Amino acid sequence: MHNLAGAEVVAESVCKTFRTKGGQPVQALRDVSFRVNGGEFLSIVGPSGCGKSTLLMMIAGLESLTTGHLAIDGNSVKGPSEVLGVAFQRDNLFHWRTVLGNVMAQIDLRGWKRSKWEDRARNLIHMVGLEGFENSYPSQLSGGMRQRVALCRALLHEPQMLLLDEPFGAVDALTREQLNVDVATICASAGVTTLLVTHDINEAVFMGNRVMVLAPRPGRVAGIVDVPTFTPRTSEFRVTPEFLNVSADVRAMLEGSTPTPTAAWSPDRNGRRQEDHHNSQLGSGNEQS
Ligand code: ADP
Ligand code: MG
Repeated sequence: MHNLAGAEVVAESVCKTFRTKGGQPVQALRDVSFRVNGGEFLSIVGPSGCGKSTLLMMIAGLESLTTGHLAIDGNSVKGPSEVLGVAFQRDNLFHWRTVLGNVMAQIDLRGWKRSKWEDRARNLIHMVGLEGFENSYPSQLSGGMRQRVALCRALLHEPQMLLLDEPFGAVDALTREQLNVDVATICASAGVTTLLVTHDINEAVFMGNRVMVLAPRPGRVAGIVDVPTFTPRTSEFRVTPEFLNVSADVRAMLEGSTPTPTAAWSPDRNGRRQEDHHNSQLGSGNEQS
């Protein structure tokens, strides 16, 4: 695999306000500022609806900012960029294309010369453990295998940055842990800057160099936690005290920024339960979005 210089991302006071159909403003993100260094892996966690997908879409140049500034390698984001690879929760494979054909779609859509990229496509397929499945169709693959194909497609054109929005949501727990190991290894060896959005604290800590916690309504940065170096990111990392400590820190930060059912049961000044006020702000934190 080529060693690439990953792109640097800088977000300065990014705000996003949507309008509902009735014209009501919905503030999705407020004053979001952070920096991601080239080659770094930043995990982003936060409850449903706190603006994680909106943030990734803005970095991808697919959604506009209301105010603030976003730059990739010093250039303002003005539209979709060639330096990006993206993979989302649904793998979005073409069912009529083979594994190799799906990976090569990245090149076909850009109108690039196939012969120049096919060896790299085959190498990536090999690297994610799908050697021998080049000519299989998506319907013949498991969810985890399909996500691996989507990842190969995202990486084929040598992106400097990878945006992953809950890409492992549809796979079983064991496959997911194995994908965590494989993707962390591939991203590190490619030197690609990676932003991973996930609901899963353990996954965020396992894969990230840092974990950014977003607080809801409106979405803002609750804090950023450093993850200690552990190379390569193998499963042993999950049982180290460092891993458990950082996971606990992230959990505390998330809980501190989100009204919890327990907090909602505390009596108010008049001794009444407050759950009604809190529940109206809670949202459904566990659903996939
Ligand atoms: P997350 O990915 O963290 O679950 P989203 O970024 O999808 O959150 O959404 C953040 C907030 O912005 C939510 O309140 C959502 O309803 C709102 N939102 C997202 N996209 C739109 C849109 N196109 N129009 C109006 N509101 C939107
Ligand atoms: Mg989302």
